[in-house]
Amino acid sequence: MLRLDNPVQYLPGVGPRRALELSGAGIATIEDLLLYLPFRYEDRSRFMPVAGLRPGIAATLQVRVLAKSLHRTRSGRPLLRVRFGDDSGTLDAIWFNQPYLDASFQIGAAVVLYGAPKPDPLAPKRLQMDAPQFEKLSPRDPQAGSIHVGRIVPIYQRIGSLSSNQIRSLMHRLLPQLPAALEDPIPSAVRRRQRLLARSEALGAVHFPPAGSDVAALNLGRDPARRRLAFEEFFLLQVALALKRRGRRTEPKGAELRMTPKVRARLRQVLPFRLTEAQKRVLREIKDDLVGAQPMNRLLQGDVGSGKTIVALLVMLIAAENGYQAALMVPTELLAEQHFRNLRRLLEPTPYPPVLLTGSMRKAERERARQALASGAARIAVGTHALIQQAVAFKHLALVVVDEQHRFGVVQRADLVRKGLRPDVLVMTATPIPRSLAMTVYGDLDVSLLDQMPAGRRPVRTVLKSERSREEIYRFVARELGRGRQAYVVYPLVEESDRVELKAATKMAEELARRFRGFKVGLVHGQLKPEQRSATMLEFFAGSVQLLVCTTVIEVGVDVSNATVMVIEHAARFGLSQLHQLRGRIGRGAEGGTCILMMEPKLGREARARLEVMRETLDGFRIAERDLELRGPGDFLGTRQSGLPELKVVDVIHQRDLLEQAKREAFAWVDSLPPEPAVWKTLPPMQAIRRRWAERLRLAEMG
Ligand code: ADP
Ligand code: MG
Repeated sequence: MLRLDNPVQYLPGVGPRRALELSGAGIATIEDLLLYLPFRYEDRSRFMPVAGLRPGIAATLQVRVLAKSLHRTRSGRPLLRVRFGDDSGTLDAIWFNQPYLDASFQIGAAVVLYGAPKPDPLAPKRLQMDAPQFEKLSPRDPQAGSIHVGRIVPIYQRIGSLSSNQIRSLMHRLLPQLPAALEDPIPSAVRRRQRLLARSEALGAVHFPPAGSDVAALNLGRDPARRRLAFEEFFLLQVALALKRRGRRTEPKGAELRMTPKVRARLRQVLPFRLTEAQKRVLREIKDDLVGAQPMNRLLQGDVGSGKTIVALLVMLIAAENGYQAALMVPTELLAEQHFRNLRRLLEPTPYPPVLLTGSMRKAERERARQALASGAARIAVGTHALIQQAVAFKHLALVVVDEQHRFGVVQRADLVRKGLRPDVLVMTATPIPRSLAMTVYGDLDVSLLDQMPAGRRPVRTVLKSERSREEIYRFVARELGRGRQAYVVYPLVEESDRVELKAATKMAEELARRFRGFKVGLVHGQLKPEQRSATMLEFFAGSVQLLVCTTVIEVGVDVSNATVMVIEHAARFGLSQLHQLRGRIGRGAEGGTCILMMEPKLGREARARLEVMRETLDGFRIAERDLELRGPGDFLGTRQSGLPELKVVDVIHQRDLLEQAKREAFAWVDSLPPEPAVWKTLPPMQAIRRRWAERLRLAEMG
């Protein structure tokens, strides 16, 4: 019998070389291998006869190689043409640029083909397949008849040198060696309520679906086996998150905050405008957390421009007025400086001037800031990750606000939290994260939503333009500048260190300076010296620079309400969410704004369709959903940065209902546990979590 945590090498047929290849794909144990699921299924219990093929309709055939030829086309490309046939007829398949495939097709060999035929351009009455998938049936493999044909077979993504066919054989060998009843990490009550297959059954069926299964459903991932495994994966992740939360909840927090009349009066004193209803509601939710006995862990989601900053300020002021310290951590120095200026202005009537702490501050300045925090003289701090460096100590940090949180790793967040005595934590994000994804990343947080824009905003108009219109665009920009408005020209940089692109942006700034005589053109990018960069930004804030050429350093949070135009060069090189963030920099006052997306010549249809999304909607959530669909969750958040755990089975985009159910069940189950963590460790879900999630989530502290 094999155990799930045995290394794959325990499996006959897996030697050191294969084990190495498997581990390259993240497969170390028997369980990892079992969870390497097919990406497609073929019904090989009934093959389509060649005579039954229809153009454009994919089918699986069992045929023999009748003849073949390998030659070069007129343009010099190698072309392999193979004629296959069964009792009912013949069919050609062609492969360009893969001459080595010639060796795969011995005359007379039995082959399974999968593909959609098209009319043969040379003989339109005949059908032909262009590079179909194929699998040779080895005459020597005694099991070939029962594994690879005559049933619904799984098709796997190859792993190194291991073909789909070989992986299928491995799985077939592996399954009978497992204990008849595997321990099930999903509690039986949950399993019954959710009508889930038992684990052993699901693992068997997901690789070798029982005869008569609905192949279409299998290929959509809607079969009971996959549903069960997806539920399990997400349930375990959510149990881990729920445990983290419950662990936190059992600890009383370090500071006692109260909402006294004095605190309220202080808040009123700094308010520069009437709050929106959404801001009021969110503040109430946060206040309830603050005065509660358990530390707050709340995510504030609000689209760009929805007014998160004032919420952060008021919340920090509550801490300060209660005699404690509060810190606002942001991802860029630019943003730290902007917040700092804002806060300093708004806090003027209070006895709590903020201190700034960033990496590029002069040593003496930084030292002064550090001392003010250590002594408690300063109650409100703004800064970059410099705030979490070892040398920074707080007298009594009661509240941490993290802005634009998706830019920080989970670890950095945790470091700052450790500086306080179990402080309240508010993370704010302007990247609207689709609900399904928010559940995986922030499953342990409470969520507040700012779903309303301050009154008086005029919508931003978005247009797609090509090089041809450049003159017209410049005239438009000049007109706006002439009316006293300001504009951004954004240049994409893949990496801030990319020299060539930087030169292009710099050249552009020079060109624009010549072109827009009478206006001051500034340039900011990540490679500038910090002093130089913030000097230019200050000029832009003050209005003495009217046209700002910049890279995405301005993407997050920059707030200049007089800026009404944004030209985004090479717009297709940005992700949708990024474009949305950028666009959020304009139209922040009552003026509305215009966002011009420049398209490169010969932009593909897909890229253009992506940009169209920007024209169609201003709703960050809609854009994020589309972005997620187009790019997948990893790219969407930048997996490494975000700490987003990699999900193997769950399809976060299409299985939302399942995710909601799994999350609800997981949190309810954790709430039902007895209070002693020592008991928890022995429960099956915890063991499965330790096996499969510990590394991925760093749940060492889970207990
Ligand atoms: P974000 O949520 O993107 O961080 P900000 O906090 O920067 O948004 O707010 C965007 C702009 O809207 C700022 O200029 C801010 O002063 C303004 N603002 C925020 N709330 C209100 C409000 N209730 N009424 C009027 N203006 C507001
Ligand atoms: Mg902001």
